[in-house]
Amino acid sequence: MRIDIITIFPQMFDGIFNNSIISRAVDKGKVEIQLHNLRDFSDDKHKRVDDYPFSGGGGMLMKIEPIAKCIDFLKAHRNYDEIFYTSPDGELLDQQLINSYSTLGNIIILCGHYKGIDERIRQHYITKEFSIGNYVLSGGELAAAVFVDAVARLIPGVLGDEMSALSDSFQDGLVAPPAYTRPVDFNGWKVPEILLSGNDKLIAEWKLEQSKLRTKERRPEMED
Ligand code: SAH
Repeated sequence: MRIDIITIFPQMFDGIFNNSIISRAVDKGKVEIQLHNLRDFSDDKHKRVDDYPFSGGGGMLMKIEPIAKCIDFLKAHRNYDEIFYTSPDGELLDQQLINSYSTLGNIIILCGHYKGIDERIRQHYITKEFSIGNYVLSGGELAAAVFVDAVARLIPGVLGDEMSALSDSFQDGLVAPPAYTRPVDFNGWKVPEILLSGNDKLIAEWKLEQSKLRTKERRPEMED
């Protein structure tokens, strides 16, 4: 999967993309991430990418021309399956959407800033919009990073078998069961006996039961 990210703060991604699973996905050649600084596509002598909104109202908007120039430049080199815009009123991300996006080939993610972007970019260039929650961030970079992390870990070969994404919350319509590691007894807080029994069948049944209980308690809306 190739992901082109358009942003005015490319350095915001450094720590996130150069560590852990995302860097492993990149090193293994499963994901290629290219960051594009929108200012490089501004013809303004001060490299400005924002302007005042018509009708006032305060705040600035990202201008059309640099974004159009950047997307046109990218499209001249390859075809894209989707051109995403991060937006608070976009489609709310959930595991099902992430699953479906993890099979895409080439995508662009446009990160907004200020009060957002000129509506005409959304109408004529953007093919999908996603939100990471019903709250407002100061920019789309964190949303783009969330998207890339969630998608990259699903690409076959990125996670080892021991970390199989299929056993995580939401994949089977249930949240994950409680989990324990050593020591067996910490200050009298004990690991449930059944997990030490070595009986795979009983353990699997216990985990399923716990997952169902937790889903009922914490995500009742997920139950059919
Ligand atoms: N005026 C806009 C908010 C702009 S916030 C409104 O009221 O809807 C600045 C930028 O941050 C947005 O353009 C968007 O790209 C990004 N952003 C903010 N909240 C987001 C969210 N919940 N999910 C995804 N992107 C978000």
